Amino acid sequence: MPERHAKLSFSGMGVFILQKAKRTKRDKGLGQQRGKGGYMIKLKNISKSFEGRGEKTYAVRGVSLEIEQGEIFGIIGFSGAGKSTLIRIFNQLEEHDSGEIHILGKSINHASHSEIATIRKNVGMIFQHFNLLWSRTVQKNIELPLEIAGVPKKEREKRSAELVKLVGLEGREKAYPSELSGGQKQRVGIARALANKPEILLCDEATSALDPKTTEDILLLLAEINQQFGITIVMISHQMEVVRRICHRVAVMSEGKIVESGSACEVFENPKHDVTKQMVVSDDYGVTASVLKEYEQEKGVRYANIAV
Ligand code: ADP
Repeated sequence: MPERHAKLSFSGMGVFILQKAKRTKRDKGLGQQRGKGGYMIKLKNISKSFEGRGEKTYAVRGVSLEIEQGEIFGIIGFSGAGKSTLIRIFNQLEEHDSGEIHILGKSINHASHSEIATIRKNVGMIFQHFNLLWSRTVQKNIELPLEIAGVPKKEREKRSAELVKLVGLEGREKAYPSELSGGQKQRVGIARALANKPEILLCDEATSALDPKTTEDILLLLAEINQQFGITIVMISHQMEVVRRICHRVAVMSEGKIVESGSACEVFENPKHDVTKQMVVSDDYGVTASVLKEYEQEKGVRYANIAV
């Protein structure tokens, strides 16, 4: 893993956006390094409960899961199924009660504060409502994790300039979040999440507050980041069309458990569990394959499951 990380370079990032991704015919998905480097996230029998009003609620019940290096992994399920709690365990924003968890090949059971800090540097996260600091400019928001990590000013400025270019916000460095559109705010969120060159990016309903066209642009950016840098992406979304085409594999959660999982094609084409069937039927996004194909041709990238 460290070897792959060392190969990641964010210099000259602006160029890659319009570069044609090098792909083989067999490589249908987005992640070119998918499956080559083992598991980035491995969970065995993970449970997490919350106490309230004298009652214990299990948000996650005995979840076992393996997410490969370089893949885009979707987690779907109705509200309250335990999706957010589960991915917050990945970067230890929530501490699990029991079970074993390995992130980037390392056990993080009983991790110390400094180990958790290292995990968080390696696991970026973006949110539905962006979680930006309103008193900071675009550039200063992006620099925040670097400041926390003690990166010197010159280096921070260099990195944030690269990231601004990567996410397509050149010229907006000095703008405040209140002056940005939803899509631009999420671009800042993505740049900030990538500041420390993480190997994993967690997306919690990252496109749910955006209109369809902006959703499209953000998905394209995530696909490019996955393709270019091999970053593993774990994505929660209630937008089935988003998950259907960007994710390689999908897990379906209900009442804290994974009730079904498989390749996105399998799960969407042949849903087995009732919850999956209901979710697939309630697909409300509705971007047509022809629109997506145009995007692919224009931008030179491929969505994972365009043919579905
Ligand atoms: P989802 O992301 O699928 O909507 P969540 O992980 O947010 O589901 O929630 C799963 C369950 O855990 C819900 O019953 C929710 O009310 C409960 N829960 C989540 N976070 C907390 C918390 N901090 N305190 C108490 N209960 C919580």
